[in-house]
Amino acid sequence: MTLQDRPPLDEEAIDAITRLPKAELHLHFEGAAPPSFIRGLAKEKNVDLSGIFNADGSYAYRDFVHFLSVYEAATSVLQTPEDFARLCTAFLEECAANDVVYAETFLSPDFCGGGDVGAWREYLHAIREAAEAAEKANGITLRGIVTCIRHFGPEKAKAAALCAAETAGDWICGFGMGGDENKGKQRDFAYSYDMAREAGLKLTTHAGEWRGPEEVREAVEDLGVERIGHGVRVIGDLATVDMLIEKGVTLEVCPGSNVFLGVFPNLDQHPIDRLRERGVKVTVSTDDPPFFHTTMRREYAALAKTFRWDADVFTELNRTAMAAAFCDEETRAKVLKTIENARTA
Ligand SMILES: [Zn+2]
Repeated sequence: MTLQDRPPLDEEAIDAITRLPKAELHLHFEGAAPPSFIRGLAKEKNVDLSGIFNADGSYAYRDFVHFLSVYEAATSVLQTPEDFARLCTAFLEECAANDVVYAETFLSPDFCGGGDVGAWREYLHAIREAAEAAEKANGITLRGIVTCIRHFGPEKAKAAALCAAETAGDWICGFGMGGDENKGKQRDFAYSYDMAREAGLKLTTHAGEWRGPEEVREAVEDLGVERIGHGVRVIGDLATVDMLIEKGVTLEVCPGSNVFLGVFPNLDQHPIDRLRERGVKVTVSTDDPPFFHTTMRREYAALAKTFRWDADVFTELNRTAMAAAFCDEETRAKVLKTIENARTA
């Protein structure tokens, strides 16, 4: 059904949609840091970060380049396994407050022990303990995707892939790549992706956020990923869109992030609705929520308003997300039950 044929939703319907249980597949661990948490940690460590906050306490920046330096400054106070564990507790509270019941987070060994397997294990142990406590307290399930950083190059990626392979299991269930999409090629990282695949990990990569459809095609053909972070610029070539449909690739779409960073000028012009209408498996995530002044509830409200998506559409998005989740079958079934129960309650 095209947009014109859908009835607009009233405030009450939109409010109900924002309270649906949600699955989120694309969330950067450090990028999820609430500003209040970073301010507190900076104070403890006697680091002056006053310049990176607005008067209302949110992160402040003028443009994309400035955003990168604010992000770097904010995350510079995250230094020990204990810091990461506390951050995990803090951001899972935010997720739970947004009715997120399942999340997968990108964790980079480069920032957790510098790519050393022994150090990585210590960070991971602390983070998992925090995640398990949050699951007991809030019922939210978290799983980890080890990510290499594209602009650090293929050699560093191999160290990240080794960390991933050594800790692959029921919690670390995927391997991915973030960083600057304009540096190098997807295939430069094929060795690391092969290592991760052989360790039983599921695969995703950032592609088609800044570069076009060709990048998305290369991600699928050269790395064999089953999910793509963003992928939205694939809309520029319908043959590649259809390749995604044919291969059943799921897109981790982050509409608020894309609009905030200027990938698309506004949500009306964002292709998520067109991709979904054509048959692409799309899901919704926040990417680095406090940095883009967004939350899962705000994403749902904006999408419901702009594209007139009703509760059925959002439930379908969450089913798609759980079908593409990298967790084990038992976890998948448990979360799906929560999502289905919310609709029949
Ligand atoms: Zn991302």
